Amino acid sequence: MADKKGMLLQLADHVWIYPQGENLERIEPAVGVIMTANQTVLIDCGNSPGHAREIQRALHERKAPPVSTIIYTHHHWDHIFGSCVFDAEVIACRQCADELDSMAEIPWGPAWLEHEMKENPLLERSNRAKLLVIEDWSELRIVKPTRVFADQMTLEVDGITLQLQWVGGPHANDSITVEVVGQGVLFVADCFYPPPFHLRKPDDTPDWDMLNRLRKDSIQWYVHGHGQPLTSDEIQQLWQNTKKQA
Ligand SMILES: [Zn+2]
Repeated sequence: MADKKGMLLQLADHVWIYPQGENLERIEPAVGVIMTANQTVLIDCGNSPGHAREIQRALHERKAPPVSTIIYTHHHWDHIFGSCVFDAEVIACRQCADELDSMAEIPWGPAWLEHEMKENPLLERSNRAKLLVIEDWSELRIVKPTRVFADQMTLEVDGITLQLQWVGGPHANDSITVEVVGQGVLFVADCFYPPPFHLRKPDDTPDWDMLNRLRKDSIQWYVHGHGQPLTSDEIQQLWQNTKKQA
């Protein structure tokens, strides 16, 4: 599964990902792409307008149909800041929608980010990344969801069924998973990761128990936000390794 920069990586008949960016300083998470005959659904949408435009170019090269829908896996900036370049319906769970209401109040820009880093130096990594990837702050807009669900939602897109499920977890209370039913792909995003860096305690680790519980026979690929997709066997192995250490 060699991935080439700027290329979509196919996981199933209708499912691709735009893989995580190679320069980790830029914090560019993997983005899910579901293509049907008539439309494209994105799972998250890039960490900046620039990242989103890279994804648009890859979609264009692949002759993808127009992006009709974006699903937010959780509210963190690196998963949602790209949405303002798309003209699409946005779906999120209730907790995510509430977080975005607060985020929309923030005066985003270099002055705010510098102020925040002074208050809390642990924000350095994420705020430096924002300053690196956002070229023109005037185009950034927090796009709130147009459709909100509570615990779960089923979305039918031209015969493809997407199952959205709120799971919460240690990384963000609003985390959801998205299963592409019949395609063997489950998007788990960051749900099993430890809390974001500035909220992390020294002994926080990924919640392999949580990820292991999400395994099911019908799923071949588990796509997370910041790394290569995992197979069921890989997850089981990672989970067993942590059991041995305990
Ligand atoms: Zn996150």
